[in-house]
Amino acid sequence: MDKQELWRAVLAQIQFNISAANFATWFKNTSIVAKENGEVMVAVPNSFSKEWLENKYNKLILKILRELEENVKEVKYTTAGSALKVRQEPLAETQPEIQLEFQEFRVDKATNLNPKYNFDNFVVGPFNELSYAAATAIAKNPGTAYNPLFIYGGVGLGKTHLLQAIGNQILADIPEKKVKYLPAEKFISAIVKAIKEQSIEKLKTAWQDIDVLIIDDVQFFAGKEKTQEEFFHLFNALYQKNKQIILSSDRPPKAIPAIEERLRSRFEGGMIADIGYPDFETRVAILKSKAQEKKMELSNDILEYISSHIQRNVRELEGALNRISAHQNISKTQITLDEIKEVLKSVISSPVKTTNFKKIVQAVTEFYGLSEKDVLGKSRKKEIVRARQISMFLLRTELKNSFPDIGRKFTGKDHTTAIHSFNKIRKETETEERLNEEINLIKQRVYI
Ligand code: ADP
Ligand code: MG
Repeated sequence: MDKQELWRAVLAQIQFNISAANFATWFKNTSIVAKENGEVMVAVPNSFSKEWLENKYNKLILKILRELEENVKEVKYTTAGSALKVRQEPLAETQPEIQLEFQEFRVDKATNLNPKYNFDNFVVGPFNELSYAAATAIAKNPGTAYNPLFIYGGVGLGKTHLLQAIGNQILADIPEKKVKYLPAEKFISAIVKAIKEQSIEKLKTAWQDIDVLIIDDVQFFAGKEKTQEEFFHLFNALYQKNKQIILSSDRPPKAIPAIEERLRSRFEGGMIADIGYPDFETRVAILKSKAQEKKMELSNDILEYISSHIQRNVRELEGALNRISAHQNISKTQITLDEIKEVLKSVISSPVKTTNFKKIVQAVTEFYGLSEKDVLGKSRKKEIVRARQISMFLLRTELKNSFPDIGRKFTGKDHTTAIHSFNKIRKETETEERLNEEINLIKQRVYI
C-alpha cells in the first residue's frame, strides 16, 4: 500500500470509531507525508491538531496502522507545511467517502431535524421492527400512542435515524407542530449556558410550548444533576399537556448509571423498545437500498459478500459502501468481487466465525441430552425450560438476534420471554462458575 492508500484506509476505520463531528474536526486535511523504517509521519493543519492527535488519538491511529502494516512502530505528527502540501497531493481522490459524511448537514435551525432521515429510507427487519412500529404509531398519533417512547440499542443501529424520522413525519403531516430534536449533549449545554447567563427561566418558557420533544442519547444525562432536574420538570410539564416525548439511549433505563430514580421511572413509564443487530437478510436489504440511493449497481454476490463480512452495525455497512463508491468514482469501471475484497480488506479484519439458529439449538440440546422438539416446544419441565433459556441467551449473544425474533422461534413465546431468559442467564453467569463453563463448552460446539 502506498502512503495515500494507507492513510485512506486508516481514516476509513477511524470514521467508525469516533463521531462524525470529531472526525471532521481532527482528521480533515491530514495525510501521511513520510513512511520509513517503521516510522509514519502524519501531517496535520496546525499545532492544536497536532497536540490533540498526539494525546487523544495516537493509540487508535497506531493500532489501526499496525493492523494494516505490521512493521509500523511509531507515528509522529508534523505541522510543517502541511496545509499546502495536503492540498497539492492528490488527496482529493481520497476525500469523496469522507465528504459524503460532511455533506449531510442540512439541518433545520428551528427543529434541528435533518430531512435526510425519514421512514421511507429506513429499512425494517426483525431487529428493529418493534421500535419501528412504535415510531410510526407515534408519528400518526403524537402524544396519545405511547408516551414517552424510549428506544435503546447499540451504536450505528438506527436510533437517531428513527427518532428524526418521527419528527420529520409529524412535521410533514402537521407543519404547525413545534418539534424539537436535541442530542442530549446539546440539551445539557443549553442548560449550562442558560444558568451561566441567568436566562434559565427564559429557556424554560421557550421549551414549554414544544409539542414533540426528542432527546437523543439520554445516557449522557448520567451524573448531570442540574440537567436531570430541569429535564424532570420539563418532562412533567409537557407530559401533563399530552405532548409527545421521545428518547433514545445506548442502553435500557435500568442500566443507565447515575440517573435519579424519579427520572428513571419517567423513562420507563411509556413504551420501551429495543433495536437489536440486523440479521443477514436485513443487511442485504439495507445495502441494496443504500446502493440504490447512491445510484450504485452492485451484483447480489457483492451485496452478499459485504453483508456476510460486515455484521456489526448499519453505519459500518454504509461506510463500506462509501469506500466502494469512492473507488468506483476513481476507476469508473464496474467493480468486481475481487476488487471489493481488496477495497474492504482493512475493514474486514478477522475471518468471521459464523453460526446460525439451528447450530445453536442443536448444540444446546445435544449438550443437555434433550430433544430439539421439546426445547422448541411448550414443555414446562425444569431442565427443558433451562435449556430453552440458554438457547435464547446464546441467540442473543452469538447471533445478536432481536428479542421479538428470538421469542418467535419458540412455540408460544414472545419478546418478553426472550428478554427474561436472556437477563436471567446473564445474571447467573456473573456468579455461577459452572454455568459459565457449560456455556463455553456449548459455544465451542456452536462454532464447529
Ligand atoms: P445510532 O443513532 O443508533 O448510533 P444512526 O441512526 O446514526 O445510529 O444510524 C447510523 C447510520 O445508519 C445512519 O446513516 C442511518 O441512516 C443508517 N441506518 C441505520 N439503521 C437503518 C435502517 N434500518 N435503514 C436504513 N438506514 C439505516
Ligand atoms: Mg445516534
